[in-house]
Amino acid sequence: MTRLKLVFAAIALLVIAAWLGSVDWSLMSGGIWSARGLLVPLTGILAMAFMAAAILLAARPVQVESALGGLDKFYRLHKWLGIAAVIMTVLHWLVEKAPKWLVELGLLAPRQRVAGAAAEPRPFADYRDLASDLGEGAFYLLLALAALALWRRFPYHLFFKTHRVMAVLYLVLTFHAIVLTPASYWTAPIGLLMIVLFTVAAVAAGLSIFGRIGKTHRFAGEVTDFHLHEGNSVLDVGVKLTTAWPGHAAGQFAFLKFEGTERAHPFTISSGWANTGRLAFSIKGIGDYTRRLPAIIKVGQAITVEGPYGRFDFGSAAGRQLWIAGGVGITPFIARMEAITIAGQPQDVDLIYSTGALDDAFVDEVRSAADAAGVRLQIVDTGKAGLVDLAKLAAWLPDWRCADVWFCGPSKFGDSLYNAMRAEGLPADRFHRELFEMR
Ligand SMILES: Cc1cc2nc3c(=O)[nH]c(=O)nc-3n(C[C@H](O)[C@H](O)[C@H](O)COP(=O)(O)OP(=O)(O)OC[C@H]3O[C@@H](n4cnc5c(N)ncnc54)[C@H](O)[C@@H]3O)c2cc1C
Repeated sequence: MTRLKLVFAAIALLVIAAWLGSVDWSLMSGGIWSARGLLVPLTGILAMAFMAAAILLAARPVQVESALGGLDKFYRLHKWLGIAAVIMTVLHWLVEKAPKWLVELGLLAPRQRVAGAAAEPRPFADYRDLASDLGEGAFYLLLALAALALWRRFPYHLFFKTHRVMAVLYLVLTFHAIVLTPASYWTAPIGLLMIVLFTVAAVAAGLSIFGRIGKTHRFAGEVTDFHLHEGNSVLDVGVKLTTAWPGHAAGQFAFLKFEGTERAHPFTISSGWANTGRLAFSIKGIGDYTRRLPAIIKVGQAITVEGPYGRFDFGSAAGRQLWIAGGVGITPFIARMEAITIAGQPQDVDLIYSTGALDDAFVDEVRSAADAAGVRLQIVDTGKAGLVDLAKLAAWLPDWRCADVWFCGPSKFGDSLYNAMRAEGLPADRFHRELFEMR
């Protein structure tokens, strides 16, 4: 997360630095109107830069996965950037409107042109009214869409559809920004930065509008077998790829789209890669789609697998590792155990699998994967033993500090362990986690 915060701060600082180096400070006369003349472009440009970066990340640029810690983390940064963009557009709108309201209320004198000052050139004069009206309309729609995106109860499949409109809004707002940005900015550092950002993000927006995101990472396959574990509502699915798969590291995930279903969903590949063209997934029924899946899946059904993505890759400095899985968060660890067995290179690992829904056959699968890989497994039935916390964990493994921690499970469980371990002195970069949420 520290890395994501740094990237976020770097984007904001880069824009502010370029803007500071582009303003002609000698023209500033002081007062509210002068401040408005500065803050309207600054807030607008910051909003556009955050939006551009968010749209760019939504296009899944795998080239920066390692730098950002994986695609699941992209979406966290994407969300922060989106929220920051909305805050900046609100500020932009307020700074633009508030002085006019004050004039109407008789609290502020109308703007006076400084005697002798040359009028600022207006390169797109004929389009200014249109750009202004479109910008205001897009702003209101943006607020509504952002509220829906942040409203957790709004169903994901509807959120997904409405969120796609953001790409169109971005293009409308780009037009607004190009027409209304002060002419002098285009020959200054901020202009150059905006041209680069706007161009790259416009391409990403186009990919989103035309449904081409991730297209080059899509592979065809078919369902070979499936089995529903009634005890924990986990559906094991076997897939045979029919087009060449680049291979994956244990812990990576893919977007799966079963033929006849409307949308791709992300799932961890719960098998190691042995060049056999076979992938396995374990899918927990938690919502509309995943609960319906056992009834609609068929052997031989075509499937599109988009991936592999993610950097939950078990690489770490400490030789010893402590893996903690909550519920279906066991999937990357199953994959890793299989990969260790395939490679025949045992590792010093303790795995704590905490679950409130035990299924005997599923537990047997986990047990035999652990036995084969030489991983020390502890299964915690939270229904009987209560939730796992650091006190319990330290009682089981007093030397837990010697290990690097890899966590996958519910976010509250992860947060509480992370905070407790940090308080006990574990460096942040020795706690690795996979985020099972993209919204
Ligand atoms: C990197 C990653 C790896 C995952 N690995 C596994 C796994 O191995 N096994 C497993 O059971 N689950 C896994 N999940 C979670 C799984 O994707 C969701 O449980 C599933 O998509 C829920 O869909 P639903 O429509 O049934 O539920 P809903 O109730 O509609 O959605 C529940 C939540 O799932 C997420 N979600 C839903 N649809 C999508 C979508 N199309 N794209 C992205 N997110 C979506 C949203 O956060 C949503 O709030 C993983 C998620 C991520 C991000």
